[in-house]
Amino acid sequence: MIRITDILDRVAENNPEADLDIIDRAYIFSARVHDGQIRLSGEPYLSHPLEVAGILAEMNLDPVSIAAGLLHDVVEDTHATPDEIEQTFGKEVLRIVAGVTKMSKLSFGSTLARQAESLRKMLLAMADDIRVILIKLADRLHNMRTLAFHKTDKRRQIARETLDIYAPIAARLGIYWIKNELENASFMYLMPDEYDRIKNSVSTDRTAREAYIEDVKGYLRNQMEEYQLNSEVLGRYKNYYSIYLKMVTQNLAFEDVYDIIAFRIILDTIPRCYEALGIVHSLWKPIDIKFKDYIARPKPNMYQSLHTTVIGPRGERVEIQIRTHEMDRVAKSGIAAHWSYKEGGKTDESIGKRFAWIQNLVENQENFANPDEFLENVRIDLYPDEVYVFTPQGDVKTLPKGATPVDFAYVIHTEVGNQCTGAKVNGRLVPLSHELVTGDTVDIVTSKNHKPSKDWLKFVKTVKARSRIRQWIKIQEKNRSLSLGREMCEKAFRKQRLNFTTLMKSDQMLEVVAHFGFKTVDDLIASVGYGKTTPLQVLRRFMPKPEEEAEEKSRETILDRLIGRVKKRKPSAGVLVKGLDDILIRFGKCCQPVPGDPIVGYITRGYGVTVHRANCVNALKMSPERQIDVAWTEETSETYPVKIVIVSYDRVGLLADIATSISKHEANIVSLNTTTKANELVESYLTLSVAGTGHLDRVLASLRKIHMVQDVRRLNR
Ligand code: MN
Repeated sequence: MIRITDILDRVAENNPEADLDIIDRAYIFSARVHDGQIRLSGEPYLSHPLEVAGILAEMNLDPVSIAAGLLHDVVEDTHATPDEIEQTFGKEVLRIVAGVTKMSKLSFGSTLARQAESLRKMLLAMADDIRVILIKLADRLHNMRTLAFHKTDKRRQIARETLDIYAPIAARLGIYWIKNELENASFMYLMPDEYDRIKNSVSTDRTAREAYIEDVKGYLRNQMEEYQLNSEVLGRYKNYYSIYLKMVTQNLAFEDVYDIIAFRIILDTIPRCYEALGIVHSLWKPIDIKFKDYIARPKPNMYQSLHTTVIGPRGERVEIQIRTHEMDRVAKSGIAAHWSYKEGGKTDESIGKRFAWIQNLVENQENFANPDEFLENVRIDLYPDEVYVFTPQGDVKTLPKGATPVDFAYVIHTEVGNQCTGAKVNGRLVPLSHELVTGDTVDIVTSKNHKPSKDWLKFVKTVKARSRIRQWIKIQEKNRSLSLGREMCEKAFRKQRLNFTTLMKSDQMLEVVAHFGFKTVDDLIASVGYGKTTPLQVLRRFMPKPEEEAEEKSRETILDRLIGRVKKRKPSAGVLVKGLDDILIRFGKCCQPVPGDPIVGYITRGYGVTVHRANCVNALKMSPERQIDVAWTEETSETYPVKIVIVSYDRVGLLADIATSISKHEANIVSLNTTTKANELVESYLTLSVAGTGHLDRVLASLRKIHMVQDVRRLNR
């Protein structure tokens, strides 16, 4: 078991100025809270966080990471609380520990295989600090090293998860030694027979092979010296899993896999790397297609090296990697290299921030030969605007940031979206506008009769949800306008003793449809429903000489002339009908709503929607299924009629004062009737046209100030 002093020595060696105190304190804390807990191996539990911290120290990570490594299991497995950790070690350590804890709670279960890529993305997206991932990798590495103590089933499950999720993440982050070790260990538990076969094959002729390695190493070293290149030459077996993959994918027997050994030449500078490459290629014939220049074009994870495969001294393939010491360091720790101490200095604060390393990658984009490969590798990081959420079955769905349960429902299925009435996130009911975050499990509640709402458009984030909701509303509006238009036409035609239903199928109807510029009868009828065409206009096409209804002419009174401007309002303006655009609107004559009044709409036979004041007695009598939500539009330049009564003692000039007062407030008088009562009171009934309740209130207030006026009020039936 590694000791804390080994870890402290290692950190101090890397950076003499490192703050060892936080590591020391984390160790004491961890030892205290894990006290008495035992690993399956029989060792004290503390050995696990210690080993994890040791791996992190091996990666040259900063003291905060190592302290967090020592504490990574305390929240989940001990009585220690997040508050305690924050108070003792600060926000940064708590944030990292909390991140690791959150990640540990995910279970991938049976959905693993088909969703590995989404799950990897999800893990990367969940970590708001890349050190969370690094600790998780170290944690998994130690767990794999001690996997033998688990039961067979559990072993296979953990190994599968490691191979599918964690090894690829390590590779993506460029930490190849962890990737190799995770792969090898998983391979051993998942396919023990194949593992043993390759292991045995590698060890037969081991002596001969070792001699061969020494030969090639010595030869390369001598050649480098001859050209005065200061170098380090290494030779190693490739990991068993990659040998296995090569055998499977290229259908080779073990004997045919030549490059089970890889050589590496490490030099001081980049120009020397190319010199060394020249020497190697002049000694042994290179296989062209096997040459890769990752120095000029680094991998997205910053990996740099020259890779070449040559026909070696015995006619066999030899893989050789050529790189500088710095590149070798990066290849060992990958992304982690950016968190380690550099030349004793403190790590750049900004680098520790969320995916700051992606910035490096983006800036170096011109170095990448194949932009597609680059994008593929860092896609998730280039678009941190994604969230990953689970279905109740454990499937992962990718959504844009800010997405809501409605978006999720439409991703599942259009029907689920259309019928969604509510949602549970992590078991709790939430509003449909609730913002989902990565890791949430979302359960949609549906109901057969439920319908999408126009309001959803205000918060949905996905194109799919938006277009499906719009589509639905459009169909509904059309259907509604159709039945409305039909009722209106039937009624108008019936008055003229014509049967609209029969005429609808006539040839004459097709001419009429064309006359109005429509393609089908339905389009024309819908247009009537929308209020764009009136039933009378349609009717007239069927009656060459329509009897014009005698228009009742109102008698012009002296007062009318005195007051002048009588403004007629346009009908349907100023009111929005929920779920319907451009519908024919009429206002109830009984209650005469004006903007500002609470209103309610009723679908009427033949005449679109009639709007009443919410407290109108007539409206209250109507059947609720005809009721429809309506609202005033925000701005309207229309004016609306409203009846008022003015009670006053009679006097000379009273009417003139009333007219002046009304006109001063820019309201118009539409009609006026005056009656004198026995008690010498005069009641003046006026219809005014006003812009809204505010306007009306101002007019009424000014009327109340007129001399001799007793009472002024709006008539409200
Ligand atoms: Mn652990």
